[in-house]
Order: sequence, then C-alpha cells, then structure tokens
Amino acid sequence: MGIDFILDELADLQNRSLLREYKTIEGAQGPYVHINGKLYLSFCSNNYLGLANHPKIKQAAIEAIHQYGWGAGASRLVSGTMILHQELEKKIAEFKGTEAALLFPTGYMANLGALCALVSKGDIVIGDKLNHASIIDGCRLSAATFRVYPHKDVGQLESLLQRSSEYRRKLVVTDSVFSMDGDTAPLTEIVSIAKRHDAVLMVDDAHAMGVFGKQGKGLIEHYGLEGKIDVIMGSFSKAIGSIGGFIAGSKPLIDFLKNKSRSFIYTTALPPAVCAASLAGLTLIQEDASLIDSLWRNITSLKTRLLQFMNTISVESPIVPLIVGSAEDAVNVATKLYENGILIPAIRPPTVPPGTSRLRISLMATHSEKDINRLIEILQYVGFLTHERAT
Ligand SMILES: *Cc1c(COP(=O)(O)O)cnc(C)c1O
Repeated sequence: MGIDFILDELADLQNRSLLREYKTIEGAQGPYVHINGKLYLSFCSNNYLGLANHPKIKQAAIEAIHQYGWGAGASRLVSGTMILHQELEKKIAEFKGTEAALLFPTGYMANLGALCALVSKGDIVIGDKLNHASIIDGCRLSAATFRVYPHKDVGQLESLLQRSSEYRRKLVVTDSVFSMDGDTAPLTEIVSIAKRHDAVLMVDDAHAMGVFGKQGKGLIEHYGLEGKIDVIMGSFSKAIGSIGGFIAGSKPLIDFLKNKSRSFIYTTALPPAVCAASLAGLTLIQEDASLIDSLWRNITSLKTRLLQFMNTISVESPIVPLIVGSAEDAVNVATKLYENGILIPAIRPPTVPPGTSRLRISLMATHSEKDINRLIEILQYVGFLTHERAT
C-alpha cells in the first residue's frame, strides 16, 4: 500500500541484476583507493589526469576559501557574481576559442539549461542515439520534438533534417567523445550537415577536455573546428577532476542563456573556491604537457595489451568498454575483479542498451605500466581474457 511499491521495484531490480549500490571510498580519489581498509586499483574514475587530488589544485581551493569564503550566497543574478566566476568564464572562453562562456553548477545542468532555452514546442532537436543522459533529459524537458539517429550515422541525421522543414528551429546535438563507448563523433561531417540545413549545432565536449587537442582543449580543437560550433558544452568533472559545467559560445548566446536558462537562473552559483580549483586545473594542463602525454601513453599501452587478446577492439580515448552482454554476467565479472583488488563496476541498462552490459575501463595519467599489467593479469585470471581470442 502507499509507498510500498518501492520495495517491489527494488526487489525487481535485484532479481534482474540491475540494482545499483556504491562503495565507500575512504580517502581521496586516485589510481588506488581504500575501501574497508583494503587497497584497490581503480579503473573507473573520470579523473583522467589525476587532478582530483593534485596538491596545486587543493592549494588553490584553500587560498580561495581564505580570500572569498565558502558559499556563493544565491543565484548570481540575485546576490551578484563573484570575481572567480568571471575569471573562470574568461579562461574557458579563451581556452575554447569563443567570445564568452557561462558557468552552471554541473554539466548535467548546463545541458538541461541550454537545450531547454534554445528549443521548445514547435522546434525539433535531433541527437545521436548514444548521447549522454543529461542531453536526452534536456531534449525531453525542452518539449521540442525529439528524434534520434543511429550511433554516428550521419546519413540518417541528414535525412531527418531533410524531413524537418516544417519546424520553427532545428537543433542538432552530439557528444564529442561518447561516455560509455569512448568513441568519437564524426564532428567534421556533422558541422557541414548542420550548416547545410541551417540547424543550430551543440556539441558536448565533456570527455574531451584535458584529453584531446593541443593543451587538452578538446575534440573541437583537435579537428580544427573552432568557430564552427554554435554551442559548446563542457564539464570540469572529468579530466579537470573538479565540478561545474559550462556553455561556451558567442556573446549573444551567453547573454541569451543568462536570461533564459532555468538551471542557471534558479539555482545557487558554484562556491568561488570550486572555480579557483577549476582555474588551477586548466592552468596546470596548459603548462604541463606531461600530464596528457602520460594519459595517452597509458591509452596506447592498454590498447596494445588488449589487442593481444582480441582482434577487434577500438581504443580511441581513455574510456575502454569491454562488452560482456547480460547484466548478470557483467556483475559477475565485476565482482570477481573486485575480489582480486580491481575496481571496475559493471555498467548496465538503462545506462547502456540491454545486452551490452560492460566493464567500462577508464584510464588515468597517474596509472603506471605496472598497474595496467596488473589489470590484464587479473582479467586473465578471472577468465575474461583468454589467449584463444587472438588469431
Ligand atoms: C559527465 C557528463 C555530463 C555531466 O557532467 P557533470 O558535470 O558530471 O554533471 C554531461 N555530458 C557528458 C557526455 C558526460 O559524460
């Protein structure tokens, strides 16, 4: 009766191996984490450059707390913007090669806020089937007509646009690096298709910042597409190891979002010290190329090792999915890995399509060659990697 339905639903999730639970990390995030007093080798964080616990970033946050206090008080439109919000926005715009930028408390809120402001009833929004959940939620919440094309299928994108002439506004949105598959969008083609059909183009570069492009500027820079994307979304929660989302674009776009994005207007601004930490993170990756170099050394190394076991594995980023299949099997492999000191949770529906439950490996710059060897050894030991796979 009443709220008791939640017990049935929880039992149902449990029966289908879909129940989600988290582990308690005692201490900081890094290549190694402590759980129940035991040390685990972690291959599941988006903290690609190891900045979540970097001394310079911690120091920047501490100094900012001394100077600016902790809280931001209210929405910036109410209690005023703080200097560090503005400094960070200036830095983002410079980094992304745009006129301006606007901070949101998280990347999730940046996607929701931008999409709901830009399109509504009478408009159409078209996105890749594997776009991040925050994009999908933004598309749904916008009340615009929402269509998806098969993953990376630019032909289908074009044909959807051809059939969209009756809509008032058209918006195309894609991840640059797909969060559960680690592959990259065909951005150059998408740019020309969107332009040909007079559609607004929005790109979520969350997983590319600090990973792709010169000084880690992202996949847009990597492909030489600066100035060609109307709306660039990003997050400090991935390679920068911090928190906070942003939209970068033209000055009018940013003025528009300041006035129209509900997830900017009706929420409290990020604490200034968070901005100081993100600023320090951006400065670090611009000044120290060795961080990104180490990450790519690890990506290449894991790819080489995996290719010894599998003929076809495509590794394009620090995100490397090992597809298992059923949720139950994925949980079983993840449990065995955990028993052997490796932390890689099973990623299951609805995060990924049914039948494609997986171990999502994510690499960090601060993993060593030994750590990667250990991962391969344990994957063999638990029976996931076998030499028979190679031909
Ligand atoms: C993580 C992620 C987001 C959300 O960013 P947060 O700052 O963690 O809320 C948005 N888009 C993509 C592709 C992501 O991977």
